[in-house]
Formats: sequence, C-alpha cells, structure tokens
Amino acid sequence: MTIANGASASRRDGLYDVIIIGSGPAGYTAAIYASRANLRVLMLQGLESGGQLMITSDVENYPGFPEGVQGPDMMERFEAQARRFGTEMIPTDVTGVDFSRQPFTVKTADRAYQARSVIVATGASAKWLGLPNEQRLQGRGVSGCATCDGPFFRNKEIAVVGGGDTAMEEALFLTKYASRVHLLHRRDAFRASKIMQDRVNANEKITIHYNVAVTDVLGESGVQGLVTQDLLSGESSTLPVQGFFVAIGHQPNTEIFRGVLEMNEVGYLKAHENTMSSLPGVFIAGDVADHRYRQAVTAAGDGCRAAIDAERWLELQGETDEEHTIDPGTWGTAATILSGSAES
Ligand code: NAP
Repeated sequence: MTIANGASASRRDGLYDVIIIGSGPAGYTAAIYASRANLRVLMLQGLESGGQLMITSDVENYPGFPEGVQGPDMMERFEAQARRFGTEMIPTDVTGVDFSRQPFTVKTADRAYQARSVIVATGASAKWLGLPNEQRLQGRGVSGCATCDGPFFRNKEIAVVGGGDTAMEEALFLTKYASRVHLLHRRDAFRASKIMQDRVNANEKITIHYNVAVTDVLGESGVQGLVTQDLLSGESSTLPVQGFFVAIGHQPNTEIFRGVLEMNEVGYLKAHENTMSSLPGVFIAGDVADHRYRQAVTAAGDGCRAAIDAERWLELQGETDEEHTIDPGTWGTAATILSGSAES
C-alpha cells in the first residue's frame, strides 16, 4: 500500500492526517487501518472509551473468538492493536467541531486539534428507562440487544419493553430461546409496522401487556423480576422474569454535528458516497449511521471502509496542506476513485 502524499505533509507540524472521533469497534478498526497505512492518526476516545461493548458481558458472535469474549476485553484488544500501529489516543470528549475550513478543527474542553480528514465513529446509545436497578443490573440480565444476549436466556421467562419495530423484532427473536416473552407497552397500541405487529400477535410464545409501565427491576446479582404498574388502574404488581430487554429506541450520538453534517430526521448521519458524509474529507462509520444492523462486526467493517476511503481521499488532496475553505466540487474526482476496488 502506498503512503499518501498528504501524510508526509501532515508530519511537519501538529497537523494530523486523520482524527477519529469515538472508540467503539468502528473507531478502533478505522484506527488500525489508517495507522497501518502510515497516516498520522489521533483518536479522541471519549471519556467513556470503548462504546456499547463496555456494558456487554459475553460476546459470542464476533468471528475469531470461538469460546466467546467479554465485551470490555475485546475492546482492550482492539485498542492494543491500534496502539501497535501508532494511533495516538486521548480519553476525552469532543465538545465541538469546525469543518468549514481545511484543516478541520476538533475541539475538546481544554484544547483544539487539527486534521486534514475526520472519521466520525461516535456510535449510538441505547435509550434506557432510567431506573437505578436497571443500570445496576446491565449485563446481568438487563440488556439493550437481543442479538447479543438472547442465547443466554434459553428456556427462561423474559420481558421486553417498547412498542416500536425494535421491540417487535427483539421479542420475536427472543422466542427462539426463551420459554415465554412478555412484551410490555405503555399505551394500548403499538407504533410498530403492521407486519411486525401481526407476527408478534401470531406468536404463541409472546404475551402482550398493554398500558403497563415498568417501575423497578428486582434482583441482587441477576434479574429476578420486574415491578410493573397498570397505567389504567394504577395497581402495581410483580412479573417474575430472569431477563429484561429494553427496546425503546436508540439515540445516535450526533449532537455536535447538528447543522454541520447531513443527518436524517432522528439524527443518524447520512453517507453520500461510500462512507463519506455530506462534507468532503469527513467520513462516517458504525452505529452513528446505522440503525439497522448495530453489530460490533458490522461497525468494525464500516471502520475499515472509512479508513480506506479517508486514505484515498488524502492521496487525492496531495501536498496541498494550505488553509482553504471546503469546496465540495473537488469530491467529484475523489468519488470516482473511491468507488474502485479496495487494496489489500
Ligand atoms: P421507536 O419507533 O421510536 O419506538 C420506541 C418505542 O418505545 C415506542 O413504542 C415508545 O412508546 C416506547 N418508549 C419510548 N420511550 C419510552 C419510555 N421511557 N418508557 C416506555 N416506553 C417507551 O424506536 P424503534 O422501535 O427503535 O425504531 C426506530 C426506527 O427504526 C423506526 O423508524 C423503526 O421503524 C425502524 N426499525 C425498523 C426495523 C425493521 O424494519 N425491521 C427494525 C427496527 C427498527 P410510544 O409508542 O408510546 O411512544
């Protein structure tokens, strides 16, 4: 793989070739690829580095770990691999960006960093009900991801809260493992698509509870039940379950990019050409742009793609590291090159 001309230009001063914002599987994979391509890479990891896998216990579906791996252990390995190729890392939150001029500026609470390209891998956060015991029992029976944790609930009775497509999907998926799935919704009608509702209604393993709120999660070292409240009568009762899946939606972490990068109505970033955002030189990877798959392995794949795209884009920019305002017109040529096959 050739060394980008742009890389040598960046090494002359404090300018980075790539700043990666976020440190989940997408960010670390982008860091591994970009650093190994001899680019000067800074990763701003966030104060809580590692992303959603830091609150996941066993990961059994990431290829290459036949015995499974703990989420935090896996993130440690990702980080070590990125460090091996020279990625600089700072565990700090990004507070703002200025992408109106080259080089791009990325700000934290105490200073600003500059780079010729940026990869946004800030992920998405599962929404939670906000109950103290829900947080305490995360990874010990409380989960935000059925695909990740469903197999741990074979022949157990579990509950899912939510009334959208995610809740329907999670409830249906969980019937493969659980002996019974209680689907709890705060209103008397789901907002999910009709086809998903029909599938849920037709599934004998799912019991639907309408007009119900979850007010507490019971259990010491694992979930033993939920306290629920009937929202019509006001009565409280206990539902004995061993697992609790919160499926009330995800929130992409894109607040700092509002008005800067194009996003859809709920805040997921939009890719324009491969992994490039609406702004040339800014690339996106992982759950920040993906509400469909949301898997560690798909995010890692996105990180690889974003790093390759960023490297090629930098090559196209050549030695021109003078300050200039962004001209989206330059992307026309870059797009053509980026759609070519990936180097290995
Ligand atoms: P969503 O459509 O926003 O639904 C969230 C659900 O959680 C709603 O039913 C909402 O109740 C409930 N909820 C929110 N906050 C709550 C709280 N504090 N307590 C109790 N319940 C709460 O989110 P989503 O299901 O994740 O879907 C997001 C988008 O992705 C949608 O456009 C969806 O169609 C799409 N999606 C598609 C598929 C698919 O096509 N296979 C799969 C998953 C998601 P209310 O109804 O009362 O507001």
